[in-house]
Amino acid sequence: MKVPWSAASIRVQLTGWYAVVLSLMLVVYATATFIAVRHEFQEQLDDQLHDDFESAEGFLAPTPDGRIVWTGDRRHDPDNDEDRGSDVWSPNGDQIGRSGASATLPPVALATAGAQPHYESMVAGGRRWRTLTGTALVNGRSVVLRVSRSEERLREQLSEVLEVLVLGLPLVIILAGLGGYLLARRALAPIDHLAVEARRVTAERLHERVSVPNQHDEIGRLAAVINDAFARLESSFDKLRRFTADASHELRTPLAVIRGIGEAGLVETRTPAEYKEAIGSMLEEIDRLTTLVDTLLRLSHGDAGNVHLARESLDLGQLTREVTASLAVLAEERRQSISIQSAEGVSVSADRLLLREAITNVVDNGIKYSPVGAPIAVSIRADGNRAVVEVADQGPGIAAEHRERIFDRFFRVDTARSRDAGGTGLGLAIAKWAVEANGGQITVESGTGGGAVFRIALPLAGGTKPGRG
Ligand code: ADP
Repeated sequence: MKVPWSAASIRVQLTGWYAVVLSLMLVVYATATFIAVRHEFQEQLDDQLHDDFESAEGFLAPTPDGRIVWTGDRRHDPDNDEDRGSDVWSPNGDQIGRSGASATLPPVALATAGAQPHYESMVAGGRRWRTLTGTALVNGRSVVLRVSRSEERLREQLSEVLEVLVLGLPLVIILAGLGGYLLARRALAPIDHLAVEARRVTAERLHERVSVPNQHDEIGRLAAVINDAFARLESSFDKLRRFTADASHELRTPLAVIRGIGEAGLVETRTPAEYKEAIGSMLEEIDRLTTLVDTLLRLSHGDAGNVHLARESLDLGQLTREVTASLAVLAEERRQSISIQSAEGVSVSADRLLLREAITNVVDNGIKYSPVGAPIAVSIRADGNRAVVEVADQGPGIAAEHRERIFDRFFRVDTARSRDAGGTGLGLAIAKWAVEANGGQITVESGTGGGAVFRIALPLAGGTKPGRG
């Protein structure tokens, strides 16, 4: 079966790439070596020819009758040496000396010999020759002298070198590939081990972690990243479990109340006025249920990023005044006063409805959780490139250990009290989502008087810093 390259394991891919790159490098290296060796051999041959030329000059001697004769080489017999030759011609082309080996080479005339000796390669009699041709002066007379050596030995040596290179190359590549494969396997073994360990971590065993053998090497860092991801996953799972349990509980309570009222109504016959009251109570619970489900749906749309923001430039002071005006009745019921301190022209670019809802929820909480008659202070200002709305009350405040979770869905510090006050436990979750969707942050701190201070910070529209009002 054919395995596509991309499906092969990293180990095989690494080995493959390693072998390819190594082969290319070795081919380049072998070619360069071969060229260098050939050049060196040729230089040696030329040096030998040069020596031959000089000694041949010594063998030319004048005779008393004015001729020039070849006195022969004492070291080798030119007639029997197949690889070397020396030839001499007189200026008029007469052969003075000629060796057997070079008999196949063409004669050279004085005119073509040139003053400077020159090297030449040629093929003659089926063999390759290297020659050095020049003129030599014997007793004031020029003669043409050519020394030659067969290139066959050199070619044989070169082909031996080539053979070693060509045969050795695949062997080296196979051995290196094998070494590369073993190295890659050794290097990647910890990743396989990591995969086996990570596979052990399932939804039911999210608390388990992969082992980190050495946290400073690459595998250690990868294991740490995987463990971080598991930790985040575990925390998300926990949140989801808690949320599902809380949501079921919140939905069950009004349903139980409705059922209770219904059952009580069926047990004995009542007056029409009593039935009306019972139906009214049921509708109240249904309203509560509807609000809860609607809010949950909106939050889940927000989580999925399905909400379209209608951003516009808003005067934050004006928007906050609108919010406090709409909540004035609730504050009056509890004999609370809401003071507003607002800088002029603090404007943000945000979705009006969402931002209004966030501020409403925070101010509404201030009213709900502050004691009767306690004042609530709202301030609007610019801080650097942020627009800030602060709502400070004189209620119980939020203990430090609850500040992280206060914005979680269904989280309540005092469950009974919040329910009595009509809270669903989703007000701050909605506020957080609404503020963050508009690019801001919501935080809570302790006020100087002990109450809670909720701070909503949003980017200032146009990033300008208005003057203080
Ligand atoms: P709820 O509908 O219960 O008010 P929220 O999400 O608005 O839900 O608030 C979550 C919880 O945070 C509340 O149940 C309450 O315990 C606490 N909380 C919110 N605002 C304040 C505040 N201004 N002072 C004290 N506690 C607060």
